[in-house]
Amino acid sequence: MDYRALLFTRPAVREPETRPVPPELEVQARWFAGEFGRLLRAPDGAPVEIVQFGTWNRGAGPDFLDAAVRFAADPDPVRGAIEIDLDPADWERHGHGENPAFEGVVLHLYVHAPPPGARESFTRTRNHRLVPRAQLDLARLVAGPPPEPPRAHPGRCCAPLREIGAEAALRVVLSAARHRLGKKSARWSRLAAAHGEEEALWQLLASALGFHANQLTFSLLAQRLPLHLVRAQPAAAAAWLLGLAGFLDAPARELGADDEARAWRAAAWAQWWPRRGEWERLILPRDAWRLSGVRPANHPQRRLAALSAIAGAWPSVRAVLDAPDPATVAFAALGALSDPFWDRRCTLASHPLTAPLALVGDARASEMLANVFFPAILSRRPTAWEQFLRLPEERSNRRADTAAARLLGPPAARQTLPRTAAVQQGLLQIYEDFCQRDASDCARCPFPERVGATGKGPSA
Ligand code: SF4
Repeated sequence: MDYRALLFTRPAVREPETRPVPPELEVQARWFAGEFGRLLRAPDGAPVEIVQFGTWNRGAGPDFLDAAVRFAADPDPVRGAIEIDLDPADWERHGHGENPAFEGVVLHLYVHAPPPGARESFTRTRNHRLVPRAQLDLARLVAGPPPEPPRAHPGRCCAPLREIGAEAALRVVLSAARHRLGKKSARWSRLAAAHGEEEALWQLLASALGFHANQLTFSLLAQRLPLHLVRAQPAAAAAWLLGLAGFLDAPARELGADDEARAWRAAAWAQWWPRRGEWERLILPRDAWRLSGVRPANHPQRRLAALSAIAGAWPSVRAVLDAPDPATVAFAALGALSDPFWDRRCTLASHPLTAPLALVGDARASEMLANVFFPAILSRRPTAWEQFLRLPEERSNRRADTAAARLLGPPAARQTLPRTAAVQQGLLQIYEDFCQRDASDCARCPFPERVGATGKGPSA
């Protein structure tokens, strides 16, 4: 029996074909794989062209980021995010219109046209901008299982980066990493000149704990609650941070899932309320936080507890800047951070974890080394670059994985470059400088030609 015969032979009697509607995730995967085509139609029939599919957003917010879309009225593509729902009314149902993370959406795709007589719904952002819509036509789907969603489409530069050879490609990437660290060192120097090294380090470590979604909010908190205040009363640090963050004012159902949590919250409130009146104007509103898509272990409440633990262990954390071997000292200092309550909690409302979880794990410590400590150290001691080159890559860095998928292609192609933090930083820099500015699906991006022209690439 030829298996293809099983696959392709038509039945003698054909049942009328009814195509089941795939689940939303499958629609998204098939759209990203190009199965719906690039040319779509707006509800009024106007053409909408997907110039660039962008990348999967694995964090909070819309489904795809860094896409480019051309609308009939304008020959220049518009860059931004794309949201895909089965029903156009899902935008309102899911509260996207109130969510600031959806402000950058430039196209809302949907599958089902609203039935006649259905209540009219709108794709409108928090700032009342009307987002264009277009429908996906299920009839265009190809048969077969849904594709394994790639993280991002490999770009046009994969070939030239491969053709110049691994050594030259590494030089290009490390040169980009050096450029990136230079910019971060300049930021460190500006901040240290304005506020002193201690406060600069405090603010940048806070920002690193905010992850991508809440970086700015963490920086703001560290500015409003400077290190010298926190260190003057370290026992109150967690209460003050969570209080200023607005988390201690949350409704009762969000505060304390059990006796231990309620006791912690009561003790924190006792430390917070004498300050609350004085600092009330500085308390962050609830919508300052982006919580959707944030993993429980990365919840801002837990990250604020980590920040307060950093303040409590400040001399050993600060010592990283002067250490002959910064990585060893940083992993030891940050890995030793602990708190009897927060070691086993993700939020005030969650139940205790069955096993303790590091307040600052190795991945976060690597990220702090690459983004905070080494830029600061390099501004005083340029020879530390050699140490930075030996820093292992940060595990679970989604943005770096996306950049690698765009620039280098499938994971096997990545094996030619070392798995170091420097390579990750270099790929991220190229991604930000070229991919995130391109709206032509690589067609007009100058990077591939530049890589090809340099042949061996610039030296690191
Ligand atoms: S936009 Fe440029 S740098 Fe990015 S993947 Fe395409 S060709 Fe490469």
